[in-house]
Amino acid sequence: MTLTLHVDTDAWRAHLRRFADDTPGLVPVAKGNGYGFGLARLAEETVRLGLDTLAVGMVHEVAAVRAAGFTGEVVVLTPWTPADGSEVLDDPRTIVTVSRLDDLRSLAGKRRDTRILLEVRTSMRRHGLPPAELAQAAALVADSPLRVEGWTIHLPMVVSGRLAEARRLASEALGALEAPLWLSHLSDDEYRTLAGEVSVPLRLRVGTALWLGAPRTRRVTARVLDVHPVERGERVGYWQRRMPRSGYVVVVSGGTANGVAMEAPTAAATARQRLVAAASGSMEALGLALSPYRIDGRKRFFIEPPHMQSSLVFVPADAGVAIGDEVPVEVRLTTVTADRIEG
Ligand SMILES: *Cc1c(COP(=O)(O)O)cnc(C)c1O
Repeated sequence: MTLTLHVDTDAWRAHLRRFADDTPGLVPVAKGNGYGFGLARLAEETVRLGLDTLAVGMVHEVAAVRAAGFTGEVVVLTPWTPADGSEVLDDPRTIVTVSRLDDLRSLAGKRRDTRILLEVRTSMRRHGLPPAELAQAAALVADSPLRVEGWTIHLPMVVSGRLAEARRLASEALGALEAPLWLSHLSDDEYRTLAGEVSVPLRLRVGTALWLGAPRTRRVTARVLDVHPVERGERVGYWQRRMPRSGYVVVVSGGTANGVAMEAPTAAATARQRLVAAASGSMEALGLALSPYRIDGRKRFFIEPPHMQSSLVFVPADAGVAIGDEVPVEVRLTTVTADRIEG
């Protein structure tokens, strides 16, 4: 009764191994839903790769990767604030990120030898110290027992100008304090180029390209839980929507609890487009949205928004589908979590 993630484990691990071999200083990122694999699985794969450092998103995720057997250094990416508490500051194998002078003062005042990364603000404008405050930050840590493990620079995905920004911020940061640079979202080439230009060690944090980088090594399937014939004009579902055509209501596993979501129909946004769609007998005519479920070779329309653990999709009478079939689901694993992982 489940949404299943099938992994060709050997092929996936071969990809992970190649990626790690090609990326000196790699720091895998395991956060949130674990890129669809779960934090424990990513921690185990990091151990298997023999890597010394793993990044998590938030303080509470440290325990999850520890429980899965990761004994190396864990970096917490979301900047520490006093609300995160002090426990994490005493763990000698955990490195916290600091991105505001006030938080740095608060940390320095604790007179602990906490390991920290100092975050530099980038064009992302998410977190980080503006360049004008870098020297002040360096002075604060020089006066404290805090141990600076490096500067962190989190760059946008947009390629244009990215390397130039990395260079500029790296030079500002290194001007304030010589320390390793921890980067995100540089390409292989950009990372190598920068490595050739600076005299400090570089680390590259990667999540998506590492864990989800070899799409052929995995697939997600849903189970067909039920199939009901329906006549044109009959009502269906929680919202008793009238069916525009005769065919089948197909109940498939996967719903809001898994992150299966309904995107707004885009194909027929205007009244005129809807008229055209209606004339051609299209499902979009009724404002139905395409689902990620592929049945009999085509993505099918949602009859209504997904339920908690299952979804209703419409299949025309001539499509072949039977209870128990496993059908492909085209979803991004950063937003969808399967009930079960095979492999
Ligand atoms: C999530 C995150 C990453 C990893 O991002 P991907 O796009 O999944 O590779 C890297 N750096 C920081 C600071 C992050 O928050």
